[in-house]
Amino acid sequence: MNAEITKPLAVVTGASSGIGAATARALSDLGHPLLLLARRVTRLEALGLPDTLARAVDVTDAEAVSAAVREAEARYGPTDLIVNNAGVMLLGEVAKQPADEWQRMLDVNVTGLLNGVRAVLPGMVGRGRGTVVNVSSVAGRKSYPNHTVYSGTKFAVHGLSESLREEVAPHGVRVITIAPGAVETELLSHTTDETAKADYQAFKDAVGVLTPQDVAAAITYAYQQPQRVNLREIVLAATAQAA
Ligand code: NDP
Repeated sequence: MNAEITKPLAVVTGASSGIGAATARALSDLGHPLLLLARRVTRLEALGLPDTLARAVDVTDAEAVSAAVREAEARYGPTDLIVNNAGVMLLGEVAKQPADEWQRMLDVNVTGLLNGVRAVLPGMVGRGRGTVVNVSSVAGRKSYPNHTVYSGTKFAVHGLSESLREEVAPHGVRVITIAPGAVETELLSHTTDETAKADYQAFKDAVGVLTPQDVAAAITYAYQQPQRVNLREIVLAATAQAA
């Protein structure tokens, strides 16, 4: 480990684009060594961040997530922060949408997030400190057209995060839910229903959007509070986004 590193290890899932990449940059600017996970490892490496381990990991593979965390902790010490950010949004009407799209959202957005939690939580509980940031959405608080399954996964993130917060609060571990409105990222590009995609793009164009850096700033603000302070949930959206 580089003797000049004074900050603890932070893990960011889905760091190859959008909110995850911006969060990785922000945490690196604060001096944290990083473990970055996503399937596109060349995109992680292209960030060019110092003291960073980049691993091609699908978050639905629990053992691969845990192995990468073990490797990073051997190099940089215990994980003090995980940002469970990896996610997919495949918009569409349930009756028309291929079932494998539902399954992918459930697997990545819910099971993948839990795999991140499990990889770091026993260590955090044992040390009596640590922070878990779970990236949900305003779609985890209310519904939108074509969002049924995506919204269901994000309601799950809200629900399990709140219950987990209660579970680990006595152990000094914080759980923080980040719920952004529309953000300009690659997220919408994976939707295969062209009508749903065009409708959501029109919504984004009408209301304006956050930048990934806006969300990263909220995450680092919450993390930088003293460990005794838990900003349990941050809901942020472009001012013009009324819905
Ligand atoms: P992007 O599509 O830009 O980023 C998604 C990230 O998740 C990528 O790094 C991608 O990496 C990663 N990812 C997807 N599937 C997997 C997988 N199976 N294993 C590992 N990593 C995976 O979108 P955003 O930055 O917008 O999304 C980040 C989070 O923010 C998501 O949870 C999303 O639901 C949430 N969010 C986004 C909003 C928005 O308007 N953009 C609004 C509210 C919430 P790779 O493909 O390389 O694996």
